[in-house]
Parts: sequence; C-alpha cells; structure tokens
Amino acid sequence: MLLCGEARFAGAGLEFLAKTSRLIGHIGVKGYLSLGEVLSVTGSVGTVYLVGAGPGDPGLLTLRGAGLLEQAQVVVYDQLANPRLLSYCPQAQTIYVGKKASEHAMPQEQINQLLIEKARAGNRVVRLKGGDPFVFGRGGEECEALAAAGVRFEIVPGITAGIAALAYAGIPATHRDFNSTFTLVTGHEKPEQSASDIQWPVLAKLPCLVFYMGVGSLGEICRKLIEHGMSPDTPAATIQWGTLPQQKTITSTLSQLPQAAAALGTPAITVVGKVVALRQALNWFEKRPLFGRTIVVTRTRQQASELSQRLTELGAQVIEAPTIELAPPPDPAAVDAALASAGQFDWIVFTSANGVASARDRLLASGRDVRALGDAKIAAIGDVTAAAVGRLLCRNVDLCPARFIAEGLAEEFVERDLVRGRRFLLLRADIARPLLRERLIEAGAARVEDVALYQSQPARSLPPGLIQALEAGNVHWITFTSSSTARNFVDLLGADYAAKLAAVKLASIGPITTQTLLDLKLQPAAAAEQFNISGLIDAIVKHR
Ligand code: SAH
Repeated sequence: MLLCGEARFAGAGLEFLAKTSRLIGHIGVKGYLSLGEVLSVTGSVGTVYLVGAGPGDPGLLTLRGAGLLEQAQVVVYDQLANPRLLSYCPQAQTIYVGKKASEHAMPQEQINQLLIEKARAGNRVVRLKGGDPFVFGRGGEECEALAAAGVRFEIVPGITAGIAALAYAGIPATHRDFNSTFTLVTGHEKPEQSASDIQWPVLAKLPCLVFYMGVGSLGEICRKLIEHGMSPDTPAATIQWGTLPQQKTITSTLSQLPQAAAALGTPAITVVGKVVALRQALNWFEKRPLFGRTIVVTRTRQQASELSQRLTELGAQVIEAPTIELAPPPDPAAVDAALASAGQFDWIVFTSANGVASARDRLLASGRDVRALGDAKIAAIGDVTAAAVGRLLCRNVDLCPARFIAEGLAEEFVERDLVRGRRFLLLRADIARPLLRERLIEAGAARVEDVALYQSQPARSLPPGLIQALEAGNVHWITFTSSSTARNFVDLLGADYAAKLAAVKLASIGPITTQTLLDLKLQPAAAAEQFNISGLIDAIVKHR
C-alpha cells in the first residue's frame, strides 16, 4: 500500500517537474513574468481552444482535445460535435450554439462575442467543432475575431469528415493506382459571395473530389462535372452520418448518384473518383456483425457501459434505457458492522461487480480497508465480479463457479464440502434471491449473514427516444441482464407491453432471466450459453 502511494507521489512529482521546466523554459525566453502572465503562459486562464471534435465517432477525438475538455470551464459546441464528448467535461458550463429543431443556429457574430466574453472572464474555453476546426468549419473566422480582440487561442486539429467518412465507408482518399491528389470542395459557398471560386473546368479534370455540404446541390454538382468533361460513369458515393452507427453509403456513378442518393439527408459527404470502386473490397465498418442493428441495454447506468461499448464496437446503435437505479444501502450502519466483522467469516460472497464497488466504498467511508476482510476466503459469481474483486479489493477469488448463477455457487460449495460448520457473509443487493442463503443453511452452515450492500430500485421512466424508436419499428433487440431488468422494463412499457414488443427480439443473459421472460409470456430469441455479458453478445451475434 505504502509503495503504491510512493509510486503515485513520484509520478505526480515527475509531472510537476515537467510542468515546472516547461514554465521555466517560457520564463527563460520571456524574462520575468507576473503571476497573471505565468498563468496565461501555462494556458490556465482566458484562452480559447478551438478543438476538432472529429467526424462523429467519439473515439476519433484527439488526446489533446480530450485533455482540454477535461480542464475546460466553458465548452461551446455545435450540431456536428458529438454530444457524447461532453462526458469529458462534466465540470464545465456547456453552451450549444448549433441549430435547434425549429430555430436557427446562433449567428456567427454572436458566437464570436460569446467566446471573447467567456475568455475575458478568465475561463479556459473549449470551442468544440465538428471534424477539423479549419476545414469548412468557420474556425478561421472565429480566430480572426479572437485575434482582433486580443484573446489568446490555440487550435487542436481534428479528423475531418472528408477523410474519416471515406475511411469508414472503405474508400481510401488516395491510392497510387488511381489518384495522387484529392481535393476538398464545399457545395455551399458563402451566400453573399457573388463570384464562386470553384473552378468547375479544373475540378472536372481532377481524379478525386470530396464535396462537403453538398446534399442540397448534389444534382447540380454532378451535372456541372459532366458538363465540363468528367465521364458520367465515374464512380461516386455519398456517405451520410459517416463514422456513426447510423452511417449510410450509396455508391453509384456520377450521372446516377443524384437519383440514387436522393433519400440521404445531411450531414453527408460525396466523393467522386475511381477510389470509390475499392469500397467493394474494403467496406469494413458496415460489415461488422451488428451494423445497422439498434439494441437496447436495460442495465443500470453504472453497469451499462461494458455491454454498450462492446455492442457499439460490433456495429450496433445502442439505446441505454436503465430499468434499475442503484441507491446507497438501506442500512449503512448494518453494512459497516458486517464489514467490520468480515474477518470472522470463513467465506465472503460477492454476486455482482456493483456489490464489490459498494463494499470497497463502505470500507473506505467507515475508515477501514481491505484488511477488515482478514483471512476470509472470497467467492464471486461471474467473471466480471471476480475481476472487480481483484481490481477494487486487490484480492484473488478463491471460488468462482462455472455456472454464473447462485445455484452454480451453492452446488460448488456443497460438492466441495465447504459448507458444514462454516460461516458465510453474503454481500449482495437488497433484491437478491434467498436461494443461496437457504441452500447454505440446508447444507449445515454454522452461520449465514445476508447483507444488502445497495438498493436496487425500478427506474421511473424509459427515455422518450426509446418509446419513439419502438413505435417506429426501429428497435431490433432488447437485452436483459437480470430478471429485474425484464420485470421493470415490462412495467415501464405498460399493460400492452406484449404488443409493443411483438416485432422486437429479446436476448436473455441466462436461465433465470429467460424463465422470468417466459413467465411474462415473452419468448427470448437468443439466450446466452455462458451466463455473462460475453455470452449474451455471442448469442445475439450468432442469431444473425
Ligand atoms: N469542419 C467539419 C466540416 C464542417 S461543414 C469537418 O472538418 O469535417 C459540415 C459538413 O461536413 C456537412 O454538411 C457534411 O458535408 C460534412 N460532415 C460532417 N460530419 C459528417 C459526417 N459524420 N458524415 C458525413 N459528412 C459529414
């Protein structure tokens, strides 16, 4: 433990040293600095960072962008910056300046003023812009305004849609066999600009063109290129919502594209050139096993991330609809007392990663630590629970049953003759089934203490987006990771739940959850063979 602490201090010291030497470097160049100047040299106050948010996939934000979001006091973002990136800056004031459903976006002049005011008030301001801030993003205009006002700014480039959307559609922007140049063009010039600076006769001769903001003018773009001599058979593609789970790609020829892609809306990129033909072999993103599937995750918000992330990586669009909310233990004093005496038990049993986290939190909150568990052996149901024991309590698990359910653990305890005369501390949720306790008592346990580490309450509502998606027939799967997620979900849907779910496939994590679904007169289309998240995902993938 002590070593851990020292290592961390050493790490912090190094970071401090690095920061100090950077500072000294600046001071060396500039001579003596006042505190205010030192702070502004280190970028702490009054600076605007124009950060490229990337094209949509939140994983395409740069590390520098993420670091600046974490430190921002104000974040000004627009429509094409994925709002999920705001999870990096829960501390910041966030201001949306993009288009709202019925209204227009905030005028550019007002955005410039906002940035200046927020910076002058001493804030670290992140201006988060879709793609790259300087590629058709009006980043240049914003910087000009900042420069004129004497406000410090920095640019953090981002991955521009014209490269990323192509990549996710399996279209390389350049290829030695086809093109040594590629040209980025806007399909939407400044309205008041009288003469266009787009040279159609030149563009028509180039081997690869990428059009931004060209949805409304696609017909005109293709017509002009053909008029100026480009072959009507040139391969062309339009990619809408590139890099996101809802990505749509239409490939065609220059002459046919406007008609073929008529159903696509904004935001979309159009690419014209022979490289488009490579998509046939290189289309990777849309071929992932769950691409195009919308899958609902009904776990608690705290537990959803692993399942959501893995489904997303397989291509699914995930809607999180937590049906359970976790709350602190109903009787914290009872939990503290049980944990204080944990070392007197032969076995401590954890049944969920959340239980392990709650135990760790209570131990620390009551001034104790893992030493309170003494020499008690630890059993865990599920590999994720076992991993949490290792990660959060720094202990190895002595028993993890092959079947990840209470029955599996009870059987293994009994088969290995570990029960008679032994003392057990069960650290679980308040809604845990009594089965494990009962089996242990039947098998002759000397003592079984069953303590609720946290409360699990039904959620009060489903997200409105989910109801709409269900009504529109846009939901393909709903995943259930416990009986309570199934029961709560059905309760939230209302009496006509069966009708609402008629066209949706249900996936169950294991036999207990499956039985609950059957009791509710719902038939799961897929059930995990291994009763954990991986098993659940496998079952869905195999179903296709
Ligand atoms: N600065 C941005 C571009 C802003 S202009 C960048 O570097 O990407 C807005 C245009 O970008 C949209 O009209 C569309 O043509 C394109 N665009 C942005 N995100 C996109 C996406 N995810 N998929 C397809 N096109 C996108």
